Amino acid sequence: MKLGINNTHIWLPYTQMQIAPEPLPVASTSGCKIKLEDGRELIDGISSWWSACHGYNHPHIVAVMEKQLRTMPHIMFAGLTHEPASTLAARLCSIAPSGLNKVFFGDSGSVAVEIALKIALQYWRNIGKPHKDRFICFRNGYHGDTLGAMSVSDPEKSLHKAFRNSVIKQYVVDIPSDEYSFAEFDSLLTAERNNIAGLIIEPLVQGAGGMKFHSADTVAEIYRIANKHHILFIADEIATGFGRTGNMFACNEAGISPDILCLGKALTGGAITMGATLTTDEIFNSFLSNNPEDAFMHGPTFMGNPLACSAANASLDLFEKEPRLKQIEKIEAQLIEYLEQCKKSTNVTDIRVKGAIGVVQVDTTKIDVYALRQKFVEQGVWLRPFKDVIYLMPPFTISEQELSTLTSTIIKLTK
Ligand SMILES: *Cc1c(COP(=O)(O)O)cnc(C)c1O
Repeated sequence: MKLGINNTHIWLPYTQMQIAPEPLPVASTSGCKIKLEDGRELIDGISSWWSACHGYNHPHIVAVMEKQLRTMPHIMFAGLTHEPASTLAARLCSIAPSGLNKVFFGDSGSVAVEIALKIALQYWRNIGKPHKDRFICFRNGYHGDTLGAMSVSDPEKSLHKAFRNSVIKQYVVDIPSDEYSFAEFDSLLTAERNNIAGLIIEPLVQGAGGMKFHSADTVAEIYRIANKHHILFIADEIATGFGRTGNMFACNEAGISPDILCLGKALTGGAITMGATLTTDEIFNSFLSNNPEDAFMHGPTFMGNPLACSAANASLDLFEKEPRLKQIEKIEAQLIEYLEQCKKSTNVTDIRVKGAIGVVQVDTTKIDVYALRQKFVEQGVWLRPFKDVIYLMPPFTISEQELSTLTSTIIKLTK
């Protein structure tokens, strides 16, 4: 037990509690730095699971949240509304790909995905096609830890292998990559279109499933085929949204507007938990009737939480007031340049960069990525490599100096 912090009653995420090292007690955060109880400082290369896109404790977010905290930290969202929620909904619709005009708030990313899946299922029921009740999802995909979200994540390689037989069976396919696999994809959708409600994809970058990239053209072609077969296109931009891949949303680069969009993680600038599911008027209107039972039957207790909405509004202010997309461009250029050196190492199998995401894939017979975690801490950086990837998803506000400390540490430890 370090420094009086007692972890006896704590159960950590994705952690084998018998053998994992003790978690590091954190005293405070600021900018791109995590300050530990023992006085050490770590440069954060992963933005607290990709959420703290403006760095920590951004004064504008803190000020707006402090004001909201004193006015109204929470109020239920049924039968009541408030300015932070209505402002946020309008702002999200104005920046999201066109046609997404309605926002259903949730309390986390996984819940945003559950809401998306439920909206899709009920949409088909609303228009008299209740047999369309399965989803297409992709190998290496990850959509969250709740049962519905698990069912559309990769059943073999995801974090959910143990639950494979306890979730609804969906259609799991590889992301098509060439003419042949697109033809195969098209024929699957042709054959099964009457059973399929929608498809769900992390556009451009599959995150927790292994930091795998695919092209904007691929996303556009998947969209075209789904559309052709009347299969709803659900974009899970919980990780890619808010600039991470270089555009405000990854769908922008593909030039598409999904039927349903899931947001989370950086939605509040990483200050507090929140999710949002956006959809079109067409889908929303299918729920309208004089029968209360036709309503969308979902409502997390803390949905539309005013404090979270205020943080999200403050985060959007920063995207407007500060040159975030320019900073992301700079990070991308720097990652491409600095990570190039990793190619010299025979332990490294691939380097890829997309927006403010840098990935160094290693040969796990030569490098134990889990052992690297502690070595990174010893070097003063916070990175959490997994599977066979060391990845960077730094705050967009990271300085050139801080980013080069991160990349040079990776170069040193993968030599
Ligand atoms: C993190 C993540 C989720 C789940 O979000 P939580 O807030 O952890 O529930 C879903 N989809 C993607 C793409 C994610 O990266």
